Amino acid sequence: MKFNKILENIKNYEAGKPIELIVREFGVEPKDVLKLASNENPVGTSKMVVQALKKSANKAHLYPDDSMYELKDSLAKKYSIKPKNIIIGSGSDQVIEFVLHAKCSKNSAILVAGTTFSMYEIYAAHIGAKVYKTPSKSHNIDEFMEIYNSKKDEISVIFLCLPNNPLGECLDAKEVFEFIKSIDKDTLVVIDAAYNEFATYKDSKKHISPLEISKLKNTIYLGTFSKLYGLGGMRIGYGVADENIISNLAKLRPPFNVTTHALIAANEVLKDKEFIKKTLENNASEMVRYEKFAKKNGIKFINSYTNFITYIFDDKNSTQICDTLLKQGIILRDLKGYGLNAIRITVGLPKQNKRVLKALKALI
Ligand SMILES: *Cc1c(COP(=O)(O)O)cnc(C)c1O
Repeated sequence: MKFNKILENIKNYEAGKPIELIVREFGVEPKDVLKLASNENPVGTSKMVVQALKKSANKAHLYPDDSMYELKDSLAKKYSIKPKNIIIGSGSDQVIEFVLHAKCSKNSAILVAGTTFSMYEIYAAHIGAKVYKTPSKSHNIDEFMEIYNSKKDEISVIFLCLPNNPLGECLDAKEVFEFIKSIDKDTLVVIDAAYNEFATYKDSKKHISPLEISKLKNTIYLGTFSKLYGLGGMRIGYGVADENIISNLAKLRPPFNVTTHALIAANEVLKDKEFIKKTLENNASEMVRYEKFAKKNGIKFINSYTNFITYIFDDKNSTQICDTLLKQGIILRDLKGYGLNAIRITVGLPKQNKRVLKALKALI
């Protein structure tokens, strides 16, 4: 059977390996599987969310509130913006998809950092749009500017991942806003802020304000509930932008694109200040454990503004390390697919991190 030619150039997104696979393949007990591969929240699910979901379990037969009134209202209050500045997606991934369909065609291009979140490229491929990457792996704003200036007619979307997955680095907000000022009104700048709360907690200079973004005519802020908020399994995220951008993206939103329970969970976790605080504190203190280990053992790492750390190896093979750990039930993310001899480790709870580092120590 013939399919759309565009499909020939599309690679599937390589997700972190699921726990069930390790249980089946290596016979590890489910309780002994440690997954630190997808940057999920190691603290777990907020207890307030669990309660709210239990109470609403009997609403499964009804379609969700498609206006998403309550969640939009909560986010609007949190960021001092209007509900009309917000679009909700089935993960912020879906908002990335809306952006590309709203702005790109097969004659246009996107501009991204040398090594960054692969979904930008994958969704661009769905449309047949070209992808320009900066020579540097991490974000270098001068390189972004140079490529943009030479390909202005083609580039319709620029992605800045702040902080960047899978490397962990983060530009200062000041640099970012200056950059946006020199970009045409017709080019959309996407600020993927999936980890920005972690960056802001570490260094306030990294904070990107959704309110400031919503005042610009050519920029969108993307947030997710999958990382800090511990709702990866619920699939919910959002975009914040000027009303004109949001109303155009909304034309591409399928009806009922997020579930009733995802909406309830997201709205509830925003209230759970204790859960959020615990997550940020654990991440900051446990990050230090990983940094110390790396320094002591001569492993290179990137100063991380996220909830993961990327270890770069010289003489050891990252794939071999990951495969060996996998057999012990420890799932980490090998970055060979990104052309890096490196491993991305989601920062877990103290006991989990001790287990990872003990296992790693035995291999290096
Ligand atoms: C996790 C992640 C997202 C979005 O995840 P969703 O689960 O789809 O909300 C977006 N961008 C980056 C860089 C991420 O790491």
